[in-house]
Amino acid sequence: MIKANYPVDKLGAIQTPFYYYDLNVLRATLDEINQHKGSFKVHYAMKANVNTQVLATIKNAGLGADCVSGGEVQAALDAGIPASEVVFAGVGKADWEINLGLDNDIFCFNVESVPELEVIDGLAAAKGKKARVALRINPNVSANTHHYITTGLNENKFGINLSELDKVTDMVKTLANVELVGIHFHIGSQITDMTPFQDLCVKVNEIQEHFESRGVALMHINVGGGLGINYEHPNHFPVPDFAAYFKIFREHLTLRPGQTLHFELGRAVVAQCGSLISKVLYVKEGTSKKFAILDAGFTELIRPALYQAYHRIENLSSDKAEETYDVVGPICESSDTFAKDYVMNATKRGDIIALRSAGAYGEIMASQYNLRKLPKAYTSDELLIK
Ligand SMILES: *Cc1c(COP(=O)(O)O)cnc(C)c1O
Repeated sequence: MIKANYPVDKLGAIQTPFYYYDLNVLRATLDEINQHKGSFKVHYAMKANVNTQVLATIKNAGLGADCVSGGEVQAALDAGIPASEVVFAGVGKADWEINLGLDNDIFCFNVESVPELEVIDGLAAAKGKKARVALRINPNVSANTHHYITTGLNENKFGINLSELDKVTDMVKTLANVELVGIHFHIGSQITDMTPFQDLCVKVNEIQEHFESRGVALMHINVGGGLGINYEHPNHFPVPDFAAYFKIFREHLTLRPGQTLHFELGRAVVAQCGSLISKVLYVKEGTSKKFAILDAGFTELIRPALYQAYHRIENLSSDKAEETYDVVGPICESSDTFAKDYVMNATKRGDIIALRSAGAYGEIMASQYNLRKLPKAYTSDELLIK
């Protein structure tokens, strides 16, 4: 089994905070995807991480791209991912973003509303083109995940509700510059129980029958992403169980002859290969607790502040007896707390701390709040870490 490697001599010599990507873990993850995906098509969800070397590694493994902005479409093309492998979702695509997709002949627009369909039709007509679109349908499946990252319920802003499906399908037929090639779903993120995916398969089967009964043939089914990772035990579970994940769809989703099944995986691809490496600035004794104050904060890793997310925190410099700390950042906000009452090896000023599983939604969400510098990123390849 692949094991992430954190040599404190090498990492401790670099100015903190910084992101560290273990490309061996990433390559092992990509191998696992390719080994189990069979004839399914996997598009990497660019919004999780667009570090140049991470992206190059993903591109070399042959994954396509799932984009949610014009910037991401451009970044995917710049990374050498073929336009024919690029899908483009998002509730609020601006005209320039749609035009970028049209000019480059991307594989498909995942469309989230009727007004968006009309705009795509108009912009495609102006270029004498026909846009391939998939309808993003809200399957009303609960992902049993944090409410900020569940996206497949009727009350979410995403997608077209089942009750509107007939109306929208009839409307698509009237648009001359739009070709309906498929349907798209994305029910949420960090889903670790396979039941929601199985529920999604059942819904997709029903929806497929509905389209069939109305004489609409679909070439592509896109079930989105959302596969979770193990934040508690990144050392024991560095690679998600892609075998079990793809098996659910193979066993429960009925494809029609010639149909292709697409996935859009972000977190599951990149989360475990990345860490935020930080240094302890101060250990402060409160009245009832101890604070470990790091030189990294929510400007470098916002998930704990934004979603109450858990990240494993390791003191790479110490194997002393464990003690309990509130692990906090330097930013002037109380929410700048990575963990409360966290047990780790006793720490002191200067210790090197790894915040694990930070490869997804870490660097990409960094900000300059408090006028902090955006941190650098290093990979195991460039640091010659095996
Ligand atoms: C965010 C997103 C994904 C990827 O989600 P993960 O949980 O990172 O796998 C896939 N598709 C769409 C449309 C998204 O918005």
